[in-house]
Amino acid sequence: MAKSITLLGSTGSIGTQSLDVARSQGYEVRALAAHSSVEKLLEQIEEFHPRYVAVADPGACQKLKDALAGRANAPKVLEGAEGIVTLAGMGEADVVLNAVVGIAGLGATLAALESGCDVALANKESLVTGGYLVTKAARDHGAKLLPVDSEHSAIFQCLQDAHSAKALTKILLTASGGPFFGMKKEELAGKTKADALKHPNWNMGAKITIDSATLMNKGLELIEAVWLFDLPPEKVQVVVQRQSIIHSMVQFSDNSILAQLGVPDMRIPIQYALTWPERAPGCAPELDFTTLKSITFDVADEETFRCLAACKKAIAKGGLGPCAANGANEEAVRLFLEDKIGFLDIGRLVEAVVDSDSFGGGYTLADVYECDRMARSFVQSHLT
Ligand code: NDP
Ligand code: MG
Repeated sequence: MAKSITLLGSTGSIGTQSLDVARSQGYEVRALAAHSSVEKLLEQIEEFHPRYVAVADPGACQKLKDALAGRANAPKVLEGAEGIVTLAGMGEADVVLNAVVGIAGLGATLAALESGCDVALANKESLVTGGYLVTKAARDHGAKLLPVDSEHSAIFQCLQDAHSAKALTKILLTASGGPFFGMKKEELAGKTKADALKHPNWNMGAKITIDSATLMNKGLELIEAVWLFDLPPEKVQVVVQRQSIIHSMVQFSDNSILAQLGVPDMRIPIQYALTWPERAPGCAPELDFTTLKSITFDVADEETFRCLAACKKAIAKGGLGPCAANGANEEAVRLFLEDKIGFLDIGRLVEAVVDSDSFGGGYTLADVYECDRMARSFVQSHLT
């Protein structure tokens, strides 16, 4: 059970919910990191008194230093992407919780694992872009990867005894379907960022909310599951569960199925990653079966939601395929949020990148960053 945490991405949706958990469990927060939200960081410093804070954006970092100047017991402030990587690898805490968004989280995940520190991983993009390097670092340094993503936490919770893990034959990865479930291409063409940012069940950061609307999030999670649970991609089946009550299921060799259920509240999986292998009373409410009327299942529409199809193609190609899909998606989502491309362009661009190369074979960290850069420039040159 963790007693002290280093929290990366502390100002975001997962970051602030992680601090709810830290508060309720009485954990010490040794270090915080974010990109540029100085005001929120100052509030968090005031409450949690970390020893270190890292800020990726240099201008914001200077602002934080100025605001802390002369304060007694002020934390040491580290600057830039390197500052966050340094902080992740310091071995300051029992666990590093990585809730940074995007490939920007990869370096910190690797640094923490290489220092032998367990990582509670919300940053799924670490595994999608560098799954081979991340799982190898965990193995080589005897560090654990504890899933924070609700679906992967559910699977992890269903596999706690050694017999179950050995008999796993299939993962049933649940998906809410997002705000556009049931719609076809003609309807999706005109969807704006305001439409896409309205998720039916979860309140999350902007990027993952768009990923949920395109089903890219489920594609990324399928790849994440392959790395975490060592099953071939064809053994991970996406099942639409509109109410987000069943967080995922596992099937065993005798075709028996186990599921994990609960309210859609990320503080449950965050807390489990931190209390594992134990459980503790927490701050999330219980599921009320007197008001829950039904749990429904549907099939995901890959014909319409091309991001999911593209992620399946990418993991089947192997190597840097998933990294390319992720890089194209990060760039396309950024452009969509700036109203520069349409909703359907995201899937079109991600699929086009995946189709553009074979991507197979081994890779280094430098190859990952080069592939990410290539995928982003591919998107820029295929905008119309
Ligand atoms: P948010 O956008 O809400 O927060 C992102 C956090 O990362 C912020 O603290 C932000 O700092 C920081 N950040 C952004 N860019 C950088 C950078 N370049 N370097 C360092 N820090 C950076 O995202 P979420 O909390 O929604 O998601 C975080 C991760 O968790 C993602 O990988 C997502 O897929 C995953 N996840 C999220 C879930 C959710 O419910 N939100 C559920 C499951 C997984 P600042 O505020 O200063 O910009
Ligand atoms: Mg999830």
